[in-house]
Amino acid sequence: MNLKDTVKKIVKKAMKVDLGEEGLTKSWQKEFPKETKCVHCGGEARVAFVAHEMGKTFKGPYVCEMYKNKPQDEELWMHDACAVAVYFCKKCLEPTALANQA
Ligand SMILES: [Zn+2]
Repeated sequence: MNLKDTVKKIVKKAMKVDLGEEGLTKSWQKEFPKETKCVHCGGEARVAFVAHEMGKTFKGPYVCEMYKNKPQDEELWMHDACAVAVYFCKKCLEPTALANQA
């Protein structure tokens, strides 16, 4: 299976998505903020959705299974279940993401 198919499978069958502020609590660490600084222009970015790998019914596959985490080779990757909050900037509309893992 190529990367595109793997990503499609993971998004379709694995990660759950909550829109807007409903997703802010779907974090493995501290709750995600409603807004964050845009990485592109420094403007204010508002939460759009949170994709996460959590819940009693969640059985994977996990994003962390896609690549090996090899910090010694400077090839970092998630090592556990993750949550990703995606924001869009009010000023430039570009996306910014915050992520954490279990
Ligand atoms: Zn921006």
